[in-house]
Amino acid sequence: MAYCKFRADQLFTGYTLLNENHVLITSENGTVEDVITLENAGEGIRQFQGILSPGFINCHCHLELSHMRSNIPAGTGLTGFIASVMQYAQPAQDFKDEQMRLADEEMYNSGIVAVGDISNQVYSLSQKSKSKIRWYNFIEITNPDDEKAEAKLSAFKTIADQFSGTLYPPGNTALSPHAIYSVSPQTFNLINQSTQNKTITIHNQECADEDELLKNGAGKFLRFYESIGRKTLPIPPSGKSSIQTWLPYFNNGQTIISVHNTYISEEDIVFAKNYAAANGLEIIFCLCPNANLYIENRLPPVDLFIKHNCNIVLGTDSYGSNWQLSIAKEMVAIRQHLPHVPLEKRLNWATANGAGALGFKDLGSFEKGKRPGIVLTGNDWNNSKRIL
Ligand SMILES: [Zn+2]
Repeated sequence: MAYCKFRADQLFTGYTLLNENHVLITSENGTVEDVITLENAGEGIRQFQGILSPGFINCHCHLELSHMRSNIPAGTGLTGFIASVMQYAQPAQDFKDEQMRLADEEMYNSGIVAVGDISNQVYSLSQKSKSKIRWYNFIEITNPDDEKAEAKLSAFKTIADQFSGTLYPPGNTALSPHAIYSVSPQTFNLINQSTQNKTITIHNQECADEDELLKNGAGKFLRFYESIGRKTLPIPPSGKSSIQTWLPYFNNGQTIISVHNTYISEEDIVFAKNYAAANGLEIIFCLCPNANLYIENRLPPVDLFIKHNCNIVLGTDSYGSNWQLSIAKEMVAIRQHLPHVPLEKRLNWATANGAGALGFKDLGSFEKGKRPGIVLTGNDWNNSKRIL
């Protein structure tokens, strides 16, 4: 068999950043054979400037919102953002389809090999079935009324069945709650029952008002509910923070990707880790730094997640709240604002951790038998691209 040999200034394995004296060996189709030292690698090595790494994993996107590119104002805070999204005039389906195609192509070209993608409807399926990217589909449920919970669940299960029946491999689809401020208690209960041992996701503590709503029944969400003609709260105030209120609805072996976490406290992180360990769950924290900067101009407490040895992954969120869909640019944003976070950690979040979170065991690291894609990121971080 012919082997391909790759060498660059640095080689990231998925876990460890190696220097220029290491060579990645793959088969012609990119299946990893080994990582060996330069002195044992022989002839025919392809040389690159920059960092070689396994393909990036984007754990939070909304492909179906790609048409919102440049149309949602930045800096409005979360409730302002939600209002902008709700008021946004829906364009024609062929425009949406073209924007999804461009977003898919952009992600692939920047080195993203798999995406955990939120779908509220079925229309992203046509693009996903043509895509070179692997998709994990979170069928996202918004339902603030207990009495409608059964009907909503069955409607969203129909959408989920279309995704898992069409995309290969099947099974990469799970129902997921949108956020605590839009999902009723009975809806949480039914989602818990329907997602045994699945990877699911939820938007968490994206703004301070989310905690204010749950702790005190107050804050900007009350005005938001009023503006949409809603008289009662979807979920009664618990006196606790958001994550301490929603996490106890789950006890069914799930891996839960908690997205954003911009306002999570240290007490909440400790609570979440302890609750997950005691109840057979895995809790993973997804950081979407550029989306947080776009909406709330603030970053989540990255140092606290590191201090508590949390499982961290990265996401871009959608074109409703980002300037591009690039995991490399999310790593750049962390470096700009938190330069002390080691590159090795950021790359690990972007590769092996993301693949583990979405259950894609053949992606995320240069280990024998895997075919994770090979990405070259320039030393200046201005570009990243697939080379195999
Ligand atoms: Zn989102």
